[in-house]
Amino acid sequence: MAGARAYPWRGLVTAVATEPRTVRNRALGYLREGKVTVLRSATRESGRRPHAVQATVRGHRDTYWVELMPGQGWMSSCGCEGDCPHRAAVQLVTGHPSAAAKAGA
Ligand SMILES: [Zn+2]
Repeated sequence: MAGARAYPWRGLVTAVATEPRTVRNRALGYLREGKVTVLRSATRESGRRPHAVQATVRGHRDTYWVELMPGQGWMSSCGCEGDCPHRAAVQLVTGHPSAAAKAGA
């Protein structure tokens, strides 16, 4: 990604396809377009964010199931490898750290 740094404007175009920023952009897009539906969430009395979440995200091809299972972490039916914009969108809306969070947040 050295090229992206040397040529910020041109680099942006190619970087968009491969950098975490894309996950953030796509996650924010899902939220903006109202494609994220949180079906159920549960928060412990002492918790600041839900420890259990069930949600759906309407993707381009299909509607995916995203779930935070207590003690097991995040699962989703989309089959994304690595950073997943579907999980990231649900993580954003439920206040969980995600690949879509701003750097340092
Ligand atoms: Zn996904």
